[in-house]
Amino acid sequence: MGDIAERLERLSQGLFSFRFAPADFPEEFRGLLERLNALVAQVEHELMRVRKLERVRSEFLGNVSHELRNPLFALRGYLEALAELPLEPMAQGFAQKALHHAQRLEALLTRLMELSQIESGAVRMRVRVFDLGELARQVLTVFEERARQWEVRLELQVCEEPLEVVADRERIEQVLLNLVDNALKYNRPGGSVWVRLEPQGKTVRVEVADTGIGIPKEHQERVFERFYRVRSAQALASEGSGLGLAIVKHILEAHQAPYELESTPGVGTVVRFWLRR
Ligand code: ADP
Repeated sequence: MGDIAERLERLSQGLFSFRFAPADFPEEFRGLLERLNALVAQVEHELMRVRKLERVRSEFLGNVSHELRNPLFALRGYLEALAELPLEPMAQGFAQKALHHAQRLEALLTRLMELSQIESGAVRMRVRVFDLGELARQVLTVFEERARQWEVRLELQVCEEPLEVVADRERIEQVLLNLVDNALKYNRPGGSVWVRLEPQGKTVRVEVADTGIGIPKEHQERVFERFYRVRSAQALASEGSGLGLAIVKHILEAHQAPYELESTPGVGTVVRFWLRR
């Protein structure tokens, strides 16, 4: 009986690849176990079907973005050339606006391609040892100018000695870029953004915290879904794709790095994750 309990426990954890051997059990259990086996086989089959659909969907998204990017790239080139011509003011304004939107569309397609590659597992994590403190300093310099313009204080809180972690440096850079970008965008003038790194046993705890507009409770679980955005007139910048946190989620999951989000509307948001040392 202990054996049945243990296997049922594995089933409840989503391990559907094993079957009971009814012959190993007393007569009265056999019929039940055979039916259980059939049920498990059906669930496993359904699961594989869903995973395949997910993969096809993700590949489709990747292909569409790729195909759309080429003509868009050409379009942007022409618009750039047009915007540099000595046009009359109104035409000049239209050309600038069209160029701006083409650039936004291109950025969106690039993110979609990134996401679909990560989702489909096409991108292999290149894990190595690197100094997280140095990476965080580098990431923050990217935002210095914008933080000054928006009057938001950017601060890195980290100990002096190198904080080595085992992870894919480029992907973790993407995670930090997305999180700090959000912490700034959804902030307020006079607000703050902190990136905190702290060794915790065999991990380093990373926190990106802000004093921004926060996320209402009912949206907190969903912001990691692709395209999910919370509409707010208070954000310092309204441009976003709703893909940033979906990319963050996939990268952290590929690292098997736990993560969490805490947020209080009107007070601020903290996104926290742990990387192996
Ligand atoms: P976006 O490109 O819209 O920023 P994200 O996937 O990065 O997309 O974030 C999804 C949504 O979660 C955002 O549209 C925003 O509403 C909310 N959000 C994310 N980070 C924060 C934050 N630090 N403060 C407040 N809201 C946030």
